[in-house]
Amino acid sequence: MINQDVFHGFLQAIHHLPEMAQPDALTDAERLGRAKAVMRAKTDRGLALDLEACVNCGYCSEACHFYQSTQDAKYSPSRKLDLLRRVHARETSAFAPLKRLFLPDITLDDLKEWQELVYDACTECGRCSMICPMGVNTARGVNVMREALFEAGLAPLELTAVAQEQAGRGTVFGVGPDELRQTVDLLRSQGITIPLDEPQADLMLVTTVIDVLLFQDALAATARILNHLGVRWTLRSAGFEAANFGLLSGSESLQKAASQRLIDEALAIGAKTVILPECGHAYPALRWEARLANGQPLPFEVLAASEFVGREITAGRLRLQPPEDPSRKITYHDACKLARHGGVVDEPRAALKALGMDLRETTPTAEQNWCCGGGAGVFLINRAEGLRHQAWEIKREQIDATGADTVVVSCGSCRLNVMAGAEADAWPTTIESVVEMVARQLPD
Ligand code: SF4
Ligand code: SF4
Repeated sequence: MINQDVFHGFLQAIHHLPEMAQPDALTDAERLGRAKAVMRAKTDRGLALDLEACVNCGYCSEACHFYQSTQDAKYSPSRKLDLLRRVHARETSAFAPLKRLFLPDITLDDLKEWQELVYDACTECGRCSMICPMGVNTARGVNVMREALFEAGLAPLELTAVAQEQAGRGTVFGVGPDELRQTVDLLRSQGITIPLDEPQADLMLVTTVIDVLLFQDALAATARILNHLGVRWTLRSAGFEAANFGLLSGSESLQKAASQRLIDEALAIGAKTVILPECGHAYPALRWEARLANGQPLPFEVLAASEFVGREITAGRLRLQPPEDPSRKITYHDACKLARHGGVVDEPRAALKALGMDLRETTPTAEQNWCCGGGAGVFLINRAEGLRHQAWEIKREQIDATGADTVVVSCGSCRLNVMAGAEADAWPTTIESVVEMVARQLPD
C-alpha cells in the first residue's frame, strides 16, 4: 500500500527544490561560452549526421506527446535541436566559414528559451526517432543540449538542486545509508529477509530513493522474489542509489560518478548480476552508458527488475500461483527507457502473462507506446506540471481504450506521474508495479 501522506509530502518537497539550488557566479559571456564549448565537443560524426539529415518533414511532431497534446510548433522535436544545428553549421560543419556569413550566432536568450524545450518538453523518450524517415536521434541531441545548459548553469533549479546534492553528499532527497537501513529494518520487522552489506554475493540489488521513501512494497517484493529463488544477493549501503541525476540534469561528471558508486560496490562483492529497481532512466545510465575506468565494458550483467523476473519465469525457475481474480483486466505501460531504448519488451509481458489475468495491450504498444510525460526528470520540474499533464492525457486515453481496470508499470518515475495524473483527474484505474504483482502470487 502506498502511503498517501508520504506521496503528498514528496510532491511538496519537489515544490521546495528550487530554494535548495546553490547559485553559481558565472558571467553571461561565460555561460554562453561554456554552452557552445559543450555543443562543439559533443558534435561527433553521429550527431553531425543527425543535425544535417533533418529534412524538416515534420513527421516527428506527430510522434511527440508534447507537440500532440498542445499543437504548439515550438514543441516539435526537430526544433528542439535548432540551437545545436546552428552551432554545428557555423562552427563544426564542412561549410562553417560560409555558414557564418548568413547564420546568426546563438545568444544567451536563445539558451534560456531552449531550457524549457529540452527539459520541460522532452522526456528523451525516443518516440520521434522511430517515425523519422532519416533516423534522426533527437533524444540524444536533446541530452547534449541538457549537458550544454547544465555546464552553463542554466538547468532548471529543481534538477540543479538534486544534482548538486547527489554530487556533494552522494544522496538524493536526503536519503542516504541511514535511511536505507531504517527501511531495511522496517521490512525485516515484517518478516522479509533483506541481506544488507554482505561482503560477497552473486547478485547485487540496487534500489532508489523513491522506493526507500514511497514504494517500499516494490523493494519488499523484489526481495521476496530473490529470496524465493534462493539467490545469494545483497543490497550495499555505500552504493544503492539507482537514480542518476547526472543523466537527467546534463552533468556528465556526476553521471559517471553516480554510476561508479554502483560499479565499485558490485566489483567489491564479486557480483555477476546487478538488478536495477523499477526505474526507467537507471537502465540506460548503468547498462548502456557506464563503463569501467579503463573504458572496458562492465564485467557483470545489468538487468531491470521486470526484465530479471520475466527471464526467471520464462526459464521456468519462477512459477506463480493462480490469481485470486483471473478476470481482472490489466494493461502494461512500457517505460520508454526500458522498451524503446533498452528493448525490454517481452520480459515484463512474460511476467504479466504468468499472473493468469486478462492482459490487454494498448494501441500502439511496446516500442511504439506513448510516453507518460513525466520521465527524464520532467516530473520534478514545477513549471512543467501543466504541460506534463496535457501529455499524460494521451497516455490516459490510451489506457482507458483497453478497458483495463489496472495499469501495471515498471518504472517509479512513470508510477509517480501516473499517480499524479490519476489524482488530478480523479481517474479510477488501479496503478500497480510488475514486481509487486508477481510477488503477491509467489507460492507459499
Ligand atoms: S521526422 Fe526526422 S527529418 Fe522529419 S522533421 Fe523530424 S527529425 Fe527532421
Ligand atoms: S524524444 Fe520524445 S519527448 Fe523528446 S522530442 Fe522526441 S518524442 Fe518528444
